[in-house]
Amino acid sequence: MAATIIDGNAIAAKRRAAVAERVTELKAKGVTPGLAVVIVGEDPASQVYVRMKQKDCDEVGIFSEQHALDAETSQDELLGLVEELNSRDDIHGILVQLPIPSHIDEDTILEAINPEKDVDGFHPQNVGKMLIGKETLLPCTPHGCIVLLDESGVDLTGKEAVVLGRSNIVGKPVAVLLLERHATVTICHSRTQDLPAVVRRADVLVAAVGRPKMVTGDWLKPGAVVIDVGINRGEDGKLVGDVDFDSAVEVASAITPVPGGVGPMTRAMLLENTLTATVRQTGIDE
Ligand code: NDP
Repeated sequence: MAATIIDGNAIAAKRRAAVAERVTELKAKGVTPGLAVVIVGEDPASQVYVRMKQKDCDEVGIFSEQHALDAETSQDELLGLVEELNSRDDIHGILVQLPIPSHIDEDTILEAINPEKDVDGFHPQNVGKMLIGKETLLPCTPHGCIVLLDESGVDLTGKEAVVLGRSNIVGKPVAVLLLERHATVTICHSRTQDLPAVVRRADVLVAAVGRPKMVTGDWLKPGAVVIDVGINRGEDGKLVGDVDFDSAVEVASAITPVPGGVGPMTRAMLLENTLTATVRQTGIDE
């Protein structure tokens, strides 16, 4: 039997609607959540992402402003802008769109963001809090994966979860969050031996490798739940995931499509983080 399709668009829309409702309540109390998005250089993909994030903010009533800096901007100039945004009361979330040009040290910039305004969840302080299970702003894509599982009624307790990929922005944090939910977690990477055999153990698979259609249906345990984080361009120019959807859908019990799975959740989680950051900074409703 073909798998249930986990509809990221629908789940994200539901979460956005909840954010919009809370934003209306906050505005009635005189507080408007504010997000500053900083983009350095002219990377076309980044420009698309930034536009989508601003559109999302408009839809739910979050104030957003864009700071587009040219590719020659110095590290000190960028740090100056981050400092200014840190000090502003009307800005509750700061997002520096990655990648930034190589003459600027990414870690220095991410560490300069006030952790309370770090709506990407990349500041080492927030990463550390996540690791020890403390409440914090969680990174958007990993959190989005967990919300997709929750909203699909998947109980992770005691399940074998396999994460493909160990990047700081997806693989590692998603593994931590799965562990927090009491899954038994295995993390795979480019040096893992006999990847299909490891993947076949998974009740829940999260694929974040950036290799188009690498995971095929014959790698999966029948009934596995598959979360495909990958966003790759296929040979025909269309977006494809890290999982070969057509073969996997015949073996899995539930699977996210690409596009329309994790992608919209990442955006929705950014809105939720901006809301959370606003509530924490203003003390409203706590
Ligand atoms: P990275 O390139 O930073 O990390 C990829 C990981 O996959 C690495 O840990 C690497 O191993 C591992 N890997 C690569 N090739 C293989 C292989 N053949 N076998 C086993 N492991 C392998 O990617 P990201 O984590 O940033 O992104 C992963 C994917 O998710 C990309 O397609 C990206 O576009 C997508 N993405 C989607 C988002 C969304 O919102 N849906 C958000 C962020 C990313 P090693 O560490 O050993 O090199």
